[in-house]
Amino acid sequence: MNRPSIAVIGAGVIGLSIARSLSSSGAQVTIFERHRIGSGTSSSTFAWVNSNGKSPASYHDLNLAGMREHEELQRTSPSEARWYMQTGTYEWTTKPEAAERLQTRVQRLVDAGYPVVKVTADELRTRIPELRVHPRSSEIVHFPSEGYVIPSVLLARLWSEARSNGVELRAPVDVLDIIEEAAGVSLELSTGETWRGDYVVSAVGRWSESVMKTLGKQFAMIDPDQPNKFACGFLGYTDPQYVQLTSNLITPEMNVRPDGGGRLLLQTPDLDHRADPAYQADTSALIGQQMLERLHRLFDNTSGARIDQIKVGQRARPADGLPAVGFVTDAARVYVVATHSGITLAPLLGRLVSGELLEGTRSPLLDDYAPDRLIGKTVKDFPKFATLHFPAAQ
Ligand SMILES: Cc1cc2nc3c(=O)[nH]c(=O)nc-3n(C[C@H](O)[C@H](O)[C@H](O)COP(=O)(O)OP(=O)(O)OC[C@H]3O[C@@H](n4cnc5c(N)ncnc54)[C@H](O)[C@@H]3O)c2cc1C
Repeated sequence: MNRPSIAVIGAGVIGLSIARSLSSSGAQVTIFERHRIGSGTSSSTFAWVNSNGKSPASYHDLNLAGMREHEELQRTSPSEARWYMQTGTYEWTTKPEAAERLQTRVQRLVDAGYPVVKVTADELRTRIPELRVHPRSSEIVHFPSEGYVIPSVLLARLWSEARSNGVELRAPVDVLDIIEEAAGVSLELSTGETWRGDYVVSAVGRWSESVMKTLGKQFAMIDPDQPNKFACGFLGYTDPQYVQLTSNLITPEMNVRPDGGGRLLLQTPDLDHRADPAYQADTSALIGQQMLERLHRLFDNTSGARIDQIKVGQRARPADGLPAVGFVTDAARVYVVATHSGITLAPLLGRLVSGELLEGTRSPLLDDYAPDRLIGKTVKDFPKFATLHFPAAQ
C-alpha cells in the first residue's frame, strides 16, 4: 500500500490529532464531521491535563505519556499560539475521610515519581492573594507538572497542521454506515455519496456505540444522555474576576481554573448527579447559585461575580472507564478510539494510532486497551465502574 487512504470520523481533539499524525506520516486523510470542528465533548470539558487519579498503573503511564506529548507538541510548535498552560494544580480537602484518600493517592504518586510538593496555606495565599483557605483544611498539595488546555486553540493547532498536510475536512456530513470488505472499506454518507478507501478510524467519542452498531456490534459505553454523574458534569463559566489565578484548583467544594480574560471555569462534582443533558441549566437556579456561593467562599473580590453560562458536558466513557483503542473487525480495516480524559491523551493517541495503522507497530502503552473487552457487552457487564467518580479522575 503506497499512500493509504484513511477516513477519520469525528473532528474533536481525538479525530483531529489522529488526522494530523496520519497525514504527517504520508497518509491521504479525509475527516467526516457531522457538525463542525469541536462541536462534541471537546468544547465542553474541564481540560485538566494530568495523570493524578488515574488507575490502574497502565492507565497512569498512558496519561503520563499524554502529558509529555502535550509538552513536546507545545515546545515544537511552529505557531506562536499557546494552548497548553502547564501552570500546575493545587488540591486540598476538609473532610477527614477525603483527606485520608488524598494522602493515599499522594503517596502512590510520590512512589511513582510523579512531582508532588507540599505547600502551606500562607505560601498559597502569597501566590494567589485572593484565595481563602478554610482553617480546617488538610495539607495542600501542589502538582507542578500538570496544567490545562485551551481546547479551541489546541483544535486550531491540530487542524492547521492536518490541513497543511493535505487533509480534507467534509462537514457537515454524517457517516451513516460503514461497510468492510477484504480489500477495503466504504462509508455511506448523509449526502448520498459513498467514500471508499483502505481504513476507517472512528473518533466519535460519546457516539461510539452508535457507530459500532453500523458494524453490527454491541459496544459497552456509558449512555451519555443519562442524567447522572457518570455520564455528565456541569461546567460553569463566570464573567471576568479580579482574581490572580493561573493554576487548577481542586478544592473541597469545587474545581476552578482560569478560562481566559479573567474568566473562571467551575466544576461542582458533588452536584453532577443533577446534570441532565436534556435541559439547559439555568444560571440563576440552584446550580448557578451554588457555584456563586462556593466561589465567594473560595475567593475575595467575587461578590459581584456572574455565571454567564452553565453547560452540561457529556462524557465519552467506555463502560469500564478506560480507553478503547484498536481494530474492531476481523479484516482490520476499522479502528476505534473512544476515551474519557481525551484532552490529556489526544496528542499521544494521534501518534500511537498512526504508528499502528501505518507501520503495523502497536505501542505497549496500549496493551491493556484493545476494544475487544467491550464488544458484545453492555454497561451491565461492568458493575464495578460505579465507584470511579472522584475529583481527580477526569
Ligand atoms: C464535564 C467534563 C469534564 C472533562 N474534563 C476533562 C479533563 O479535565 N481532562 C481531560 O483530559 N478530559 C476531560 N474530559 C474528557 C474529554 O473532554 C473528552 O474525552 C474528549 O473531549 C473527547 O474527545 P473526542 O474527540 O473523542 O470526542 P468529541 O469531541 O465528542 O468529538 C466527536 C465528534 O464526532 C462527531 N460525530 C459523531 N458521530 C458522527 C457521525 N456518525 N458522522 C460524523 N461525525 C460524527 C461529533 O459531531 C463530534 O464533533 C471531560 C469531559 C467532560 C464531559
